[in-house]
Amino acid sequence: MGKIKKLPEQVIGKIAAGEVVAGPYSVVKELVENSLDAGATKVEIEIKSGGKSYIKVKDNGEGMEREDLLLSVYEHTTSKINDFDDIYNLSSFGFRGEALASIAKVSRIVITSNNGSESHRLEAIGGKIKSISEYPLVDKGTIVEVYDLFFNVPARRKFLKSDTTEKRYVVEYVEKFLLSNPNVEFIFKVDNEIVYNAGASNLEERFRLIFPEVKEYTLINGKYVEGIISSPNYHRKNRTGQIFFVQKRFVMDKMLYYIFENGYGEALVDHPYGVLFINVPSKLVDVNVHPQKLEVKFSNPNIIYSDITRTVREALKKFVSKQIFVKPI
Ligand code: ADP
Ligand code: MG
Repeated sequence: MGKIKKLPEQVIGKIAAGEVVAGPYSVVKELVENSLDAGATKVEIEIKSGGKSYIKVKDNGEGMEREDLLLSVYEHTTSKINDFDDIYNLSSFGFRGEALASIAKVSRIVITSNNGSESHRLEAIGGKIKSISEYPLVDKGTIVEVYDLFFNVPARRKFLKSDTTEKRYVVEYVEKFLLSNPNVEFIFKVDNEIVYNAGASNLEERFRLIFPEVKEYTLINGKYVEGIISSPNYHRKNRTGQIFFVQKRFVMDKMLYYIFENGYGEALVDHPYGVLFINVPSKLVDVNVHPQKLEVKFSNPNIIYSDITRTVREALKKFVSKQIFVKPI
């Protein structure tokens, strides 16, 4: 018996549905999340022409048997939840069981997987399975290759940005994974060139890898928040240096940005750097938001907000000697 099953109709209806495939970056996001969910400790990512012509994600996770491989590209098939209530105690990224199906529908996909006892390769075009056969794959794990994204949806293909822009979106997403999973080894190739070859390490090393320009930073550790932030002397004109996660999921939430910067008080110049991990008991946050929506819903936001501001303010005292005035709380 395989691990993947179709979710019952009433569960499907309750899960916020969404078009998962916004562009190459969202394909990379979904595939890497699947690799992490499969327990991978090493993930290799490769794209060509901004991901429009080719995306590959290879992992050393638990893999899939033949049955699972066949089910994986169908909608609402998942090995991660049985019941709606399971999503409140979720430790995986996925649970909707729609990512691979959505990606498969708009591309040519080749999935090769070895679960430790058998190894197969499946090919689907526009969501239709063309072939599945045994395939010699030496190592346990999965390789997903996505060719010609939106080849069958010209309207969507037309709206993709230039290769350079799509590539930038992918790079930004890969950097988020590097930061949120420092214990996982990542190799990232763009058009045959290695962009990142990052062995397993820790948050500080990953922060320095991604933001080498930041020379003053400090680790922070509060009740609901931990991470790494720059001194007010290091900042960007935009918020690309502010990367926030809630329960390890990347979020982009106006209020959180504001609350973070508020911690800098009068020392604030432009937008400082901060990689924040907000972890709250699962009953205090709603994970069932639309997959494209990156804001969060806390059930008691104020206790979390004040913890963030206080923790940032406290940590910045370290830099006071460098003539930075931090307003007392
Ligand atoms: P979800 O992640 O929401 O369950 P997906 O469509 O992303 O849905 O994946 C469907 C199923 O395929 C997963 O539940 C998992 O069992 C299996 N799967 C997908 N990618 C991998 C992978 N890289 N390694 C092992 N199993 C995978
Ligand atoms: Mg998934």
